[in-house]
Amino acid sequence: MIYDVVVVGGGPSGATAAEDLARAGKTVAMIDRAGRIKPCGGAIPPRLIADFDIPDAQLVARITTARMISPTQRAVDIPIENGFVGMVDREHFDEFLRQRAVGAGAHRNTGTFQKIERDGEATFVVFRDKISGNQVRLQTRYVIGADGARSDVARQEVPGGDAIPYVIAYHEIIEAPGPAGSYDPNRCDVIYDGKISPDFYGWVFPHGSQASVGMGTGVDGVDLKKATADLRAASGLADCATIRKEGAPIPLQPLAKWDNGRDVVLAGDAAGVVAPSSGEGIYYAMMGGRVAANAAISALATGRAGDLALARKAFMKEHKMVFKVLRSMQDAYYKSDERRERFVSLCHDVDVQRLTFEAYMNKKLVKARPMAHLKIGLKNLAHLTRLVPPTYA
Ligand SMILES: Cc1cc2nc3c(=O)[nH]c(=O)nc-3n(C[C@H](O)[C@H](O)[C@H](O)COP(=O)(O)OP(=O)(O)OC[C@H]3O[C@@H](n4cnc5c(N)ncnc54)[C@H](O)[C@@H]3O)c2cc1C
Repeated sequence: MIYDVVVVGGGPSGATAAEDLARAGKTVAMIDRAGRIKPCGGAIPPRLIADFDIPDAQLVARITTARMISPTQRAVDIPIENGFVGMVDREHFDEFLRQRAVGAGAHRNTGTFQKIERDGEATFVVFRDKISGNQVRLQTRYVIGADGARSDVARQEVPGGDAIPYVIAYHEIIEAPGPAGSYDPNRCDVIYDGKISPDFYGWVFPHGSQASVGMGTGVDGVDLKKATADLRAASGLADCATIRKEGAPIPLQPLAKWDNGRDVVLAGDAAGVVAPSSGEGIYYAMMGGRVAANAAISALATGRAGDLALARKAFMKEHKMVFKVLRSMQDAYYKSDERRERFVSLCHDVDVQRLTFEAYMNKKLVKARPMAHLKIGLKNLAHLTRLVPPTYA
């Protein structure tokens, strides 16, 4: 048979693409190598829960407060108004998405992608089947590469796909502590401290009976395990039993082109798409899977391979501005402890809280009162030009 689309990768991005394609009546195969739980903090915003119809049963915790902690240990609690941040366990969440894609009609294959072959006009995806051990070739019209950070599809098929910059994130899944101490099962802690991460942040994310404690950095030579041990000690979590220790890259920069102009389009981490500042990638991966599926549907209808470029165009139309704002925030405030102290000070401002949380929760840059914008702009300037002390709120 000739598939309309073969999706490589069955993470949030690939499973979403496969499900959308199957629901649109296209023949679709999804190849995932399986066998490893994706290292991830598992925080998802309400917009994701709504847009992708995530059932309550997938949420292992509902976060109602975000605590920002500065290098001098000042803590600013930001209440999450009108909603919550959901927490998912990727072990179950990804499998739920894959099964939903299969329920919609996608063919599931468990194996490792090897290469794309072409014979005249025909395109084949070649993978090693995990169960039989055989090499399998699937003929297809289009390929969606959703095989995550350090994607083989991107490296082989799309210019620049082998040169995406990354931070490395590492975390430990621990047994959540009892009610004693400062741990709160409904609060996410975000730690801005150069001793934990010189260029990103550390986190404590509750997951019901478990918690994810970790940090990320793009700086060579940082001892991620030591930084995480320090973070656990500082958070009173050193004695909790450790369930898993794992790390993975987080891409830092969306590729300039997501398709090869012929038969391949990338989605999610494979396309380098993770929000700067926060490292949030699940929502953007699922949205990337969706726009890639739509672009493939369009290319199938028109016969124009150029339509694959619609994926990036549609994505950027909606998210370019938020990415730009988050990038400048990271560039301005993640570079020294003095700047991190100032960043946490800014988080005291109720209007800053509202704007950033609206951008995170609903993926929208809302217009605040004009005076609020002016005030935030002035505070920002005062901090960046050192007109005010780092702790000025
Ligand atoms: C430590 C850490 C913490 C994070 N915390 C958060 C968070 O709290 N919230 C958030 O939104 N984002 C977070 N992220 C980012 C988020 O995990 C990713 O952006 C997201 O998983 C991207 O989804 P994806 O489907 O593009 O790729 P992935 O989730 O990586 O899925 C890729 C899939 O492709 C498969 N695959 C890979 N190679 C092959 C191959 N050769 N053959 C067959 N299959 C293959 C893999 O098995 C996998 O299932 C975190 C990342 C890290 C590393």
